[in-house]
Amino acid sequence: MRADLPPDYRQVDVVVVGGGQSGLAVGYYLRRTGLSFVILDAQAEPGAAWRHAWNSLRLFSPAQFSSLPGWPLEGGPDYYPMRDEVVEYLCRYEARYEFPIERPVHVEAIRREGDLLVVEADRGIWLASAVVSATGTWTRPYISEYPGRGHFRGDQLHSARYASPDPFAGKRVLVVGGGNSGAQVLAEVSQTATATWVTLKEPTFLPDHMDGRYLFDQATARYRAQQEGRPVPEPASLGDIVMVPPVRDARERGVLKSVRPFDRFTEEGVVWSDGREEKIDAVIWCTGFKPALEHLRPLRVVEPGGRVELEGNRSIREPRLWLVGYGDWTGFASATLIGVGRSARSVAAEIERRLAGNSALT
Ligand code: FAD
Repeated sequence: MRADLPPDYRQVDVVVVGGGQSGLAVGYYLRRTGLSFVILDAQAEPGAAWRHAWNSLRLFSPAQFSSLPGWPLEGGPDYYPMRDEVVEYLCRYEARYEFPIERPVHVEAIRREGDLLVVEADRGIWLASAVVSATGTWTRPYISEYPGRGHFRGDQLHSARYASPDPFAGKRVLVVGGGNSGAQVLAEVSQTATATWVTLKEPTFLPDHMDGRYLFDQATARYRAQQEGRPVPEPASLGDIVMVPPVRDARERGVLKSVRPFDRFTEEGVVWSDGREEKIDAVIWCTGFKPALEHLRPLRVVEPGGRVELEGNRSIREPRLWLVGYGDWTGFASATLIGVGRSARSVAAEIERRLAGNSALT
């Protein structure tokens, strides 16, 4: 054993890094295995990324289709919960199951140590036979590079930090990004600012009667095909954006239209592809996120594209490491409240099988 380990290190069967919906869902199933585990989360309070979403955010899937394992989010099949209700639900979920959670604890590095993994955090060191990484993406907002962006003197904000339209009232604003975030932020900001929606291609909208549960059903069909060894169908291109009420309202107001990207920034604004220069006050980047995997770097499992090569949810290069909740590459619909349960259940069962014989994970 490493000589430099502090005397107060702790040892468990499993360390779960991240106490958002993904980490809690894994914890729900680990509780049933009898394995010793701890969930380490960098935030002082529960709620994870939801705690930082914008004030008016409403789920695109109704409550009945937005529950973690074991305990439904109240509201039923026709109610779309607000951000604060999801945070409250995660707080109560964590308390209800009395998970062994330590927060705020930021995991800085995970290293190999013989049969075990060493989890180095800002508030201690844990040894574990298995580690589940459930750190999400919210801490790694992604902004597409545009020439001159560093010289632009206006405001720039990623959707991860967007809270409300108030600071943009009366201003000329670009909302960049063609997904659900872009559509919802445009819908809101366009009510008080001169907003232009910039998307790489024409945005596609689900029919009004379809919401997040349609996307989940699609993911389930792909999951079942994968489980049954059938060809996994490509997602039907019915549309990416769920027509939640604020987005429908924006369509009625005639603002749900987007333009293709500008060429470059100037100090005062942007230059469009036809050469026109336009003064802009602010840009809100709704350009998505990358997986937060810095803590895995010492294991040399993170590929150049920023993902980890997996078999199911388990790292191929490090068989004592599992990943949950980062998007379809870690399980269809796994980055959603209702979708993460499937991955969490199979990961807990797989770890239990592999640790049952106390055999080193091979
Ligand atoms: P997170 O919620 O990001 O939690 C990860 C946790 O890990 C955080 O607490 C973080 O602090 C912690 N962490 C990170 N790094 C470390 C570290 N090194 N050490 C310790 N802790 C660490 N899903 C739905 O089901 N329905 C919806 O309607 C819906 N709408 C959405 C709208 C928007 C705008 C966005 C962005 C997402 C939406 N989602 C929705 C998706 C879903 O909410 C998120 O993907 C979800 O937050 C992912 O949960 P998570 O637990 O995987 O990650």
